[in-house]
Amino acid sequence: MGKIQCNFCGSERYEERRIEYLYSHQGKYLLVPNTPVEVCLDCGMIYYDAAVLKEIERHFFAILHNDEKPDSYIEMPAKAYG
Ligand SMILES: [Zn+2]
Repeated sequence: MGKIQCNFCGSERYEERRIEYLYSHQGKYLLVPNTPVEVCLDCGMIYYDAAVLKEIERHFFAILHNDEKPDSYIEMPAKAYG
């Protein structure tokens, strides 16, 4: 990843971290552990790599169509907890 500047505070101090990313689409959710992101050390803004997001999306739809097995797939009914 090249040099990037925070859109919020203009800082160039970044740290790469791994987080759990929750992708949601029409009421279905895919939890993706160990998603690499860049975090601004000054304001805490999180930046996602477009290629990473694209891969998550591809993975999500592959699971929807039963092409791939989910490693961590959760379905949340809208009214599960009252
Ligand atoms: Zn920042």
